Amino acid sequence: NSIVLHRPAAAHDKLLGGLLADGFDEGSCHSRYQSAVYRRNNAGKEPSPHLVFRLRRHEELQRGCGPGTVAYSNAVESLRSGKSGGIVSPPECRYLVSISYRGLGNRMLAASSALLYAMLTDRVLLVDPSNEMGELFCEPFPGTTWLLPPDFPLTNYTNFSVDTAESYGNMLKNNMITTDAGDVPTPHQQLPAFAYIHLDHDYTFHDKFFFCDDDQSVLRNIPWLVMRTDCYIVPGLFLVTGFQEELDMLFPETDTVFHHLARYLFHPNNHIWGLVTRYYDAYLATARQRVGVQVRVFGARQESPKVLEQITKCTQKENLLPDVIAAGEPPVVAPATRRRRKPKAVLVTSLTSWYSEKLKSTYWEHATITGEAVSVHQPSHEEYQRFGSGSHDAKALAEMYLLSLSDALVTSGWSTFGYVAQGLAGLTPWVMYKPANESSAVPDPPCRRDVSMEPCFLTPPYNNCRMKRSAHSGKVVAHVQNCHDVPWGLKLV
Ligand code: GDP
Repeated sequence: NSIVLHRPAAAHDKLLGGLLADGFDEGSCHSRYQSAVYRRNNAGKEPSPHLVFRLRRHEELQRGCGPGTVAYSNAVESLRSGKSGGIVSPPECRYLVSISYRGLGNRMLAASSALLYAMLTDRVLLVDPSNEMGELFCEPFPGTTWLLPPDFPLTNYTNFSVDTAESYGNMLKNNMITTDAGDVPTPHQQLPAFAYIHLDHDYTFHDKFFFCDDDQSVLRNIPWLVMRTDCYIVPGLFLVTGFQEELDMLFPETDTVFHHLARYLFHPNNHIWGLVTRYYDAYLATARQRVGVQVRVFGARQESPKVLEQITKCTQKENLLPDVIAAGEPPVVAPATRRRRKPKAVLVTSLTSWYSEKLKSTYWEHATITGEAVSVHQPSHEEYQRFGSGSHDAKALAEMYLLSLSDALVTSGWSTFGYVAQGLAGLTPWVMYKPANESSAVPDPPCRRDVSMEPCFLTPPYNNCRMKRSAHSGKVVAHVQNCHDVPWGLKLV
């Protein structure tokens, strides 16, 4: 009732501990303020006061410099005419454009990484609306837009690649930019109006200097950056010494960076929120416990008996789902006791319905040794990954979100889809290792509790920032470790 809802504690919950700004029109985006109600069992972590302060300050920056402001028009004009603004009259506002490409999980990891980089460098974040990024989510910043307007002068930015002459790496390589001054910014250098930051998997030795202090000092003076990554580059930002103090204040709990960024940024639109809540209310709400199982099979053959065996072995070994008794054996638990217990619900997400059908049959045809009833649910089975289809992406987002409402999560290693679900949930998952190939044995152990809920940065840099230090290893930077599922990847713990 309304009395309960207006208690300060309820308001605190509704805004996720101050993470979200108050005052948005609730009807335009139900998910923003209703998500707390659906997360009662799993409230998530509290944001630090400094993160809350910086988010509010960043919202002011987005409003003061974003599309529709005089500052934005001036900045676009300078970009069009190729002027950087220069050191003598620095531009009022600086911008970061984040290109959206590949799967939805990739796009969400890229956008959240871009938000953190924008906050660390006082840039306005503008997300490329391609690939449904403009349609799936509500506006995260009050009173402005996070979407790059269509009149952006660099009309071909979505085609920027490793070969683009204006990439930071190529400008370094071709001596159009230098960092010779070492730690001191380079005031007399003629800097370009924009630089393209290429952080895709094929990024070069020179592109990787993005993760170095000297280069960040130079980049600071370039008004427009256009960034391409399909990864969670945040562990790489922790390698930049100049960001460390601020990162420590923003995130005293290092393993919650994506958790907070994702809950801040990603509010499904009203249609998708309907998909989430109707499914949850119909199939999951009354369960005693909800176990999410995210099945992602990379490769053409989706239906693999070995992956099914891996799921069964993992969930039973980790006591997430009960084992069953052989057909014909007497039940262990008396029917009267059994009826009093609410079922355990398993939410399976996968491109195929094969795994959930098998699990469902198992728990129908056999009694469980614990006497528990197990219900198995899968919202959609899209059969294959599609690009540029709104309804396909809407289902993917609804399923990521439904997974994030679980009490325990089993994910498939290597999958950014699973990374997003675990981060939104605030749950450290059990990760199933990817078998080396289709004919290899079921991995042993079949899964392992991950080291943290953070996504893995799948393609981290290995250069050494001009010999000053080794760039990848938890020995240099506390809280950065190699990932379990991808041994060369980096993640925060
Ligand atoms: P990744 O490829 O596993 O890292 O995850 P991405 O989300 O980046 O890309 C995979 C895409 O395939 C998703 O965005 C969906 O479009 C689709 N997909 C993969 N698994 C599922 C699933 O379980 N459910 C749905 N609805 N779509 C899926």
